[in-house]
This record gives sequence, C-alpha cells and structure tokens, in this order.
Amino acid sequence: MSDSKNDLTKLGLETQAVRGGQLRSMEREHAEPIYLTSSYVFESAGQAADTFSGEISGNVYSRYTNPTVRTFEERLALMEGGEAAVGTASGMSAILSTCMALLQAGDHIVASKSIFGSTVGLFNNYLGKFGIETSFVDLSDNSQWAEAIRPNTKMFFLETPSNPTIEVGDVLAISEIAKSKNILTVVDNCFCTPALQKPLELGADLVVHSATKYIDGQGRALGGAVVGHDEHIKELVAFLRTCGPTMSPFNAWVFLKGLETLKIRMKAHSDAATELANWLKDHPNVAKVNYAGLSDHPQYELAQKQMQHSGGVLSFELAKGKESAWKVIDNTQFLSITANLGDAKTTITHPATTTHGRLTEDQRLAAGISQGLVRVAVGLENIEDIKQDLDRGLLHC
Ligand SMILES: *Cc1c(COP(=O)(O)O)cnc(C)c1O
Repeated sequence: MSDSKNDLTKLGLETQAVRGGQLRSMEREHAEPIYLTSSYVFESAGQAADTFSGEISGNVYSRYTNPTVRTFEERLALMEGGEAAVGTASGMSAILSTCMALLQAGDHIVASKSIFGSTVGLFNNYLGKFGIETSFVDLSDNSQWAEAIRPNTKMFFLETPSNPTIEVGDVLAISEIAKSKNILTVVDNCFCTPALQKPLELGADLVVHSATKYIDGQGRALGGAVVGHDEHIKELVAFLRTCGPTMSPFNAWVFLKGLETLKIRMKAHSDAATELANWLKDHPNVAKVNYAGLSDHPQYELAQKQMQHSGGVLSFELAKGKESAWKVIDNTQFLSITANLGDAKTTITHPATTTHGRLTEDQRLAAGISQGLVRVAVGLENIEDIKQDLDRGLLHC
C-alpha cells in the first residue's frame, strides 16, 4: 500500500480522491470494503504476541486500527498533502485529540475569535479547567496574532473563511509568525476541504476536519480527522488508542465515497454560491452580502490566492433586522432550516438566534453578527430554484 501512496502523491487531487489508500482483500473487490469488526484473530499465540508487541504490524482491535478507517486516513492525507492522517469520531473529537496529544497544563493557545462555537467551549470550559489558557484575536489582523504570543504559547488555531461572516485569514502569514516562535499552527479546514484550500502547503502544521460536513457531503454520518507531520499524528494516534474517540468503520466508508466526488461538489457549491451572492448583492432589499468571491470582500485578493474557489457558504444582511431575517427563512419552501452545512441540500439559518444565540448582543455585534444576518450554505439544487425560494420572503422585507 505504501508503494501506491508514494505514486499517488504526484497525481492530481481528483485521482487521489478516487484511488488513495485502497488495499484490496483476497476477494479483489472494486469498491472499498467495510470492515465492521471490533477485533481481529491470529494464526497462533506467537503471532498474537508479536502483533501485540508491535514486532509485526497488523490489526489487533478497531480502537487501534481498522482497514476501512486506514483507507480513509491515507486518502485524506494524500489530498491535504500531509505525511499522515488519523480519523476521529467527530470534528470536535479531532480538535480535542489534537489538544490532548500536543498540549499540556500551563500551555497557551491563540485562536481566532470566529471559530466554531463548540471549539470556543472546548478551549474555555474544558482546556481552561486543566490549566491551558486561550486568547482570542481577530482572524484577519496579523498583528494581533503576533501581539498575543506569550512565552508559553504553543498553538495557533484558526478557521478560514469564518462562520458566519466569511472573514478570511492569511494562513501563510499567520503560520510564519508562529514558526518564528516554535508555535504549532492548526487550521480547521472544514469550510474549504482540500478541494479548495491546502493549509499544510501554506505552512500550517496540522489540519483538522469535521468530515460530517463537506467530506460526507450528504449529511449522513459524523466524523473528523487530523492531518499533519508523522511525529504529531503518532502522538494523536497514541491518544486515540488510549482514550477511544476513534472513527467508526462504517462512517469511514461513507467518507471515502464522499471524497471521491469532493472536487466536483466543491466547485458546484462554489459556483452556485457565487451566483447567489451576486444576485443578492443586486437585490433591492439586501443591505450587505458576505462572500469571499465578491470583489468588494475586504480580503478578496487573499481569498483568490489562498482558495481555489470561494466556497459554498455566504451570509447576507437585511436592513430591518430580525423580523426580515425570519420572514425570509419562514417563507422558504424547500431550503432546510438548520444550522448544518456541507450538504447537497441548501441550508438556511439565523445565526443570532441559533448558532450564536448564547452570546450577549454586544458579543454578537463585536463578531459582526447582527439580528438581520442570514446564513445560507448553498447545496446542489438548481440555482434558479434557490433564488426563487429566498425571493418569496425577500420581496416583502
Ligand atoms: C461542524 C464543525 C465542527 C465540529 O464538527 P462535528 O463533526 O460536528 O463534531 C468543527 N469545526 C467547524 C468549522 C464545523 O463547522
């Protein structure tokens, strides 16, 4: 298998997505098999002893290794351009495992303010309890990253573009600041996936994923992954083996199928979002549109350089606040009213009363989340139908 991996590093992302990591069994199956087994049997006591001691490599127990999960890990590592990857039970357990494996009490994290809500909760409420402090900075203000560094800073953590305001962070510049102080840069690449953005090639040390979103792409399964250097992934594997938030083999198989179509889906999501953003921008009842693919986006040049396409998520603001936002949402006929994203089905949400509902109004405004803000994660339906579904409410705002 490692031979095929070495060959595949030189091939295109589309080929890696379809061919990466597969090891055929004695049945010579064409599609990837699902190994739904918790443990593995040995030919003899001696073979069991040698496998347990690590003298010979082989599967022992699915908390340690599973062939379907391994295929997913190898494929994703290839696609992100990383040395190795490890699958996890969810996106949050990918982030938790990264912190548990690579940090210790007394360490300090610098993170962008606009990261996923549960990540903020993990950093503040749980890592904080074990003596790891986090400072939050503006994603797109590089000087704030530099100024937040303390002697004990061990990790930079960012997510770009941000949710739901679609702010863009400069992965290359931020990782350079980190490198000069021996700090690890971790990028949550959930919104882009390697089809749009490869943070490791821009200097980041680790990429974390919620595979639940675009990697699955059809809202079926929870999972996550961490990709990076062998030395770091080894530490993560040790944590996962001991503590157990490993990826289910069935979910790994779902994600393998998702990866095969990732590139064409991400382009389709991006093309549709670009068209929708331009249509919204010209709509008389829309005050503002946040989308990295619009030329008036504050970091448009950076987004063009850093991302292959502009992604499937956008947000827009209605001048009359919550009443108008809810009117647009409640007048849709087929858009899914849900905070999820990365799905064939377009989703629509009101961040101020859902994903960011627990913040104070001041905290929300500081994060750019007004009562009039609506977020749309554009799916794969016909774009004219999506526009029409939004227009039912928009026309009366
Ligand atoms: C959903 C999400 C997560 C968490 O992933 P789960 O699979 O739900 O645990 C982390 N980061 C981002 C950006 C997300 O959108």
